[in-house]
Amino acid sequence: MQIAAAKISARPDISKFFLNLRLQMNEYPSKVLQEAVEAIGSLPGVGSRSALRLALHLLRQPAENVHHFAAAVDALSDKIHYCKTCNMVCDGQTCGICADTRRAHTTICVVESVRDVMSIEATGQYHGVYHVLGGIISPINGIGPADLSIEPLVERLQNQPGAEVILALSGDVEGETTAFYLYRKISGLAAKVSTLARGLGFGDDLEYADSLTLGRSIVNRQEFKP
Ligand SMILES: [Zn+2]
Repeated sequence: MQIAAAKISARPDISKFFLNLRLQMNEYPSKVLQEAVEAIGSLPGVGSRSALRLALHLLRQPAENVHHFAAAVDALSDKIHYCKTCNMVCDGQTCGICADTRRAHTTICVVESVRDVMSIEATGQYHGVYHVLGGIISPINGIGPADLSIEPLVERLQNQPGAEVILALSGDVEGETTAFYLYRKISGLAAKVSTLARGLGFGDDLEYADSLTLGRSIVNRQEFKP
């Protein structure tokens, strides 16, 4: 009987222990640490536990490393530029790809993001230039054509007749909707509109395609059929 009584009386203690633990997790010994955790935790895919771990990691680093880290992040908002031609991130007015005279400037590969340019560049199979939309048409997320770099693409094609446009967008509904919208806008301006070859085990997202497959999809691109 005594054991049973002890078990019952232990329950409130256990719940109190977890309550205290939860309080401790939500309470920070320093406002500075709390703000750092909240800033790190605001990044996509970083939960509060990871944010705390990363903040504590930074705390253990030499001050100069932390300053270097902070300066690199700060520069993202202050010093980054977008190429006036293709909308790629760069350090000046024009990106290295647009400035490269060895590349085929009449072949323009239209992609959703900077990351897609980097994926395609990594294949080493594409020698044209790019146009970064800066997103994809997504009514669910409230992103319409006016939010993307579509008008600059139209202007670019008006100034550069005879270009081929490769629509290298994801194979999901939003990607196809964007491709169809773009096709209607540019088919009268571009000499040719093509799209990535599919059916090569190519994933929905350019990001997840392996380099060899992505390279082949561009080399074997097909005429866009709306
Ligand atoms: Zn550029």
